[in-house]
Amino acid sequence: MLHKLRNIGISAHVDSGKTTLTERILYYSGVIHKIVDIRSKDGNNAKMDFDPIEVMRGITINSACTQCPWKGNAINIIDTPGHVDFTIEVERSLRVLDGAIFVLCGVAGVQAQSYTVDRQMKRYEVPGIAFVNKLDTPGADPERVCNELREKLDRNAVLFQLPLGLESELRGVIDLLEMKAFEFSKSEVVEVSIPDELMEKCLSFRKVLWEEAALLNEEVLDSLMNSEEPSLELLKATFREAVIERKLTPVFMGSAYKNIGVQTLLDAVCDYLPSPQDVLCTAYEEEEEVQIAADSESSVLAYAFKLQEDKYGQLTFFRIYSGRVRKGDTLFDGNGKKQRVSRLVRMNADEMNDLDLAEAGDIVAAFGIDCPSGTVLWSGKELRLDGMFIPNPVVEYRIELLEREKASQLAKALGKFQKEDPTFKVKYNEESCETVIAGMGELHLDIYVQKLEDEYGVKLNKGQPQVAYRETITGSCDFDFTLSKQTGGPGMYSCVRGTIEPSEEQFEFVNEVKGGAIPAEFISSVEAGFKDGLGEGPIEGHPLTGVKVTLKDGDKHDQDSSDRAFRIAAQIALKDNIGKALPCVLEPLMSVSVETPSEFQGSVIGDLNRRRGQVTGTQFDGSFTVISAEVPLANMFAYVGHLRSMTQGKASFAMEFERYQRKT
Ligand code: GDP
Repeated sequence: MLHKLRNIGISAHVDSGKTTLTERILYYSGVIHKIVDIRSKDGNNAKMDFDPIEVMRGITINSACTQCPWKGNAINIIDTPGHVDFTIEVERSLRVLDGAIFVLCGVAGVQAQSYTVDRQMKRYEVPGIAFVNKLDTPGADPERVCNELREKLDRNAVLFQLPLGLESELRGVIDLLEMKAFEFSKSEVVEVSIPDELMEKCLSFRKVLWEEAALLNEEVLDSLMNSEEPSLELLKATFREAVIERKLTPVFMGSAYKNIGVQTLLDAVCDYLPSPQDVLCTAYEEEEEVQIAADSESSVLAYAFKLQEDKYGQLTFFRIYSGRVRKGDTLFDGNGKKQRVSRLVRMNADEMNDLDLAEAGDIVAAFGIDCPSGTVLWSGKELRLDGMFIPNPVVEYRIELLEREKASQLAKALGKFQKEDPTFKVKYNEESCETVIAGMGELHLDIYVQKLEDEYGVKLNKGQPQVAYRETITGSCDFDFTLSKQTGGPGMYSCVRGTIEPSEEQFEFVNEVKGGAIPAEFISSVEAGFKDGLGEGPIEGHPLTGVKVTLKDGDKHDQDSSDRAFRIAAQIALKDNIGKALPCVLEPLMSVSVETPSEFQGSVIGDLNRRRGQVTGTQFDGSFTVISAEVPLANMFAYVGHLRSMTQGKASFAMEFERYQRKT
């Protein structure tokens, strides 16, 4: 059965029609029985968007997973957030899926935000098929969108379909491989003959498909050389392999809103996207890399990628990479702690079906597991998955509680948010009694502030968004510090010596102490002390990053040395000396892409330059230009309003954290 399973995401940016398409997929696969248009006035919202805040914002934030049956196959749809501020949600969901549908708007084509979606799919090596949506809209042109996929995103995109009619005349799609035309009504798909006037065009596009297949497979090439038609099975198998190896992006099309092309897209998901059998998961046993196949007979390796609070407790969504998980099983987490699967369920957005057992390759959810999301669960032998890229928060708000009696609710909620989302951080400044929340963007933090109010009844005053700066060092220094306190009672004695220098990593600690100058049992306290010291840099008090500490020597006292003494000594050693290692302040640099009508290109670039931006590329495409630039975040707050007024509301932009750079 494993080859009949698909774990897919729908990758798209806001407004391309992802929610509508997802809903139609649920409808045509029989998961829901009524199409409820999103943004409908009766308060019935599309099934995947059941969180009221999400609906209000009109974007999907939480990655729920829903299973859709399709012609004997099972398709797990993992909902990936469209907004880049939810980086960690995107990363986690991309981690567990095997393929994706890349949704594009048939009119706007490859937009500024499509670059971000494309980059994410490439970063996680996700095979994809494209769906050109909104073909019922004036100006829609799937051939142009396919060319943009090739030229702008450097994808080997090939049309697998052509539209039957277009814009207001759109009736269906033509399958170029099988040379069959289909008309769609809300309830059925009917095969019709290809209109005579389209025949020639279809044949010429089919030829392009064959030629593509010939480049991929010699057997196809041989058939064509012998003037034979390659068989459908051979062509499909060739294309399937190419998609899985990410050498090809087949392009399908339709209109989710008008119920056109959804069923044929589901066929394509089953035909071309990989099953869990087609992919291996890279894991680590101790330091050694091992490839894990989706084998239910092996021990369990699973990855918890999403937590959701439910009325029955914490619901943990996980992907099973290998092994079989039964209700009542005990698994271990990354800390070796036991986790009992007290209830195993499959989710259909907000409905739950109990399971006794789930096999390798599947994505299910469980109660009873108490772990942060991003945890590896295992049985038999401990395995790790390669770490995910967790970016540092780049924006901060000061928050102030309006009703003091809600302090405990606030603390509880903030604790929970941090557990679920490592890109959301909370700091408490004891001197000023201020709480600061930090995250990946204004929208990211706004959502949490809104959640606090709606779900926890906590009202807040929030300050202006601030950039989350960091400090680092560009030189090295030595440290030699002795802590010695002899004021009656038990004394405190510890001594640490070594060097501090720049590092590529956030923090590195190397122990080179010889001959027990510092007893082994205190070394971890020394490391912890240095970590404590990183909380505040020497220039403006921002957290330090990129620091390597090498502990070379030290001293102890038989009675007066303790963990606490070494931890304090390390912290002071760092504080006293780091100023000598040429510290500097770092600021987040964002990669920005703006898509604007070309007539405004000059003013958009001029404005980006004034914001200390560096334009890294421009792509001119008839009436539109896409400008790529790197700009310090500090100069990008409220950019959207400015861009709109500068371009009569016609430009759009996308922004993503790129790296830290030295603040000038
Ligand atoms: P998302 O932000 O990507 O989830 O996009 P939505 O599904 O919310 O769609 C954005 C808007 O486009 C909504 O007003 C939809 O009704 C509309 N829309 C979605 N698909 C189509 C389509 O195929 N044709 C047309 N004309 N409108 C569509």
